[in-house]
Amino acid sequence: MTTTRTVVRGGLVITAADEMHADVLIEGGRIAALAAHDSDVAAGWSADTVIDATNKYVIPGGVDGHTHMEMPFGGTTASDTFETGTRAAAWGGTTTIVDFAIQSVGGSLRSGLDAWHAKADAQCAIDYGFHMIVSDVTDNTLKEMDVLVEEGVTSFKMFMAYPGVFYSDDGKILRAMQRAAANGGLTMMHAENGIAIDVLVQQALAAGRTDPRYHGEVRHALLEAEATHRAIQLARVAGAPLYIVHVSAQQAVAELTAARDLGLNVFGETCPQYLFLSTDNLAEPGFEGAKYVCSTPLRPREHQAALWQGLRTNDLQVVSTDHCPFCFAGQKDMGVGDFSKIPNGMPGVENRMDLLHQGVVDGHISRRRWIEIACATPARMFGLYPRKGTIAPGADADVVIYDPHAEQVMSAETHHMNVDYSAYEGRRTTGRVETVLSRGVPVIDNRTYVGRAGHGQYTPRGICQYLI
Ligand SMILES: [Zn+2]
Repeated sequence: MTTTRTVVRGGLVITAADEMHADVLIEGGRIAALAAHDSDVAAGWSADTVIDATNKYVIPGGVDGHTHMEMPFGGTTASDTFETGTRAAAWGGTTTIVDFAIQSVGGSLRSGLDAWHAKADAQCAIDYGFHMIVSDVTDNTLKEMDVLVEEGVTSFKMFMAYPGVFYSDDGKILRAMQRAAANGGLTMMHAENGIAIDVLVQQALAAGRTDPRYHGEVRHALLEAEATHRAIQLARVAGAPLYIVHVSAQQAVAELTAARDLGLNVFGETCPQYLFLSTDNLAEPGFEGAKYVCSTPLRPREHQAALWQGLRTNDLQVVSTDHCPFCFAGQKDMGVGDFSKIPNGMPGVENRMDLLHQGVVDGHISRRRWIEIACATPARMFGLYPRKGTIAPGADADVVIYDPHAEQVMSAETHHMNVDYSAYEGRRTTGRVETVLSRGVPVIDNRTYVGRAGHGQYTPRGICQYLI
């Protein structure tokens, strides 16, 4: 049997640690070696395929640690399937997603995980793993957590929001955190005070404030900050690590900063929508604002600077998408006349790498920090490194050839996500994915999709690599 060999020549290899003018040798789906351009070593490499990356970046495939393909929510289902969503992810330079399997109330973790495996199996264009949403903490659930960690589902998401759906009270959260402290699991928290928010929702609706923009107002920034603070204190009491998902409020960043200054194992994620969009979008005329309804909500513009700063200072470590698309026609419009019935979620899995590169172009972050927050840190956070998230000997050859000079205009007309609008319609960005390899196999070849459903493999994960 011969091993397939590919050489990527002439590019600038960027990882979280280095920028290297190097050729990359790929053998049998893994990175075999890097060598300086025009070195004798690189010149000696023979290959079945040569990819010319002159004037391009050669970067690790993106790792999106927060997606919701075909997730049931509010009487409907997110519009991207594992097939369409992972294809769109590849178009956007992401080669691994970690999606969320859901435990239903009264059900076991196992049956929830099995259901998500059935949805994803043989459907994905790129590799994938699962977190577990814990909706119902029981003695049995706690025992199951230990088993899941052993099997490679090493992170458990809980909700302080959505009473009556995913919500867990503080006692349940504490019990799950205590278990995670013992078994090595990472608790992921949706930190919003859902009990208080529901009161404000009812008051707003009763007063006739039904437009999409009130979604942002009732989900008050202080109720995100309060829940973030409370989650941190519960994690301290339990002696457990904590990862706050989709941080959007400046006041919540401050809570993370304070916790990290105490040396706690507390981590934070934000998403491109909070860096690039704001309550101005939620207030767009008519029902347009529904396109931007997600939770935590978009915040006033001035929060964006605090989020970029947090990414620079490492008080925020990861940018994921929380990709959870619902079509404007037929799904978002369930909430006409009542913002609380708008399904919560936005598309973005295809846009993340480009938007963060725009953050490089705009001077918010460095190139290496771009790769760190989008590839390396999520891989380490969720136990996938160094197989994913870097370009180094032995790593999976998940490689993106990125043209940093190409211009593009984001639009629903041209994107590949299965949703009828773009949250970034008309936005001009610099930089574009050209070619994507997943374990050495082309998925996107010079802006043509050449992948297939079922190439992507389920990838069990180790525990969070930031814990000693
Ligand atoms: Zn989510």
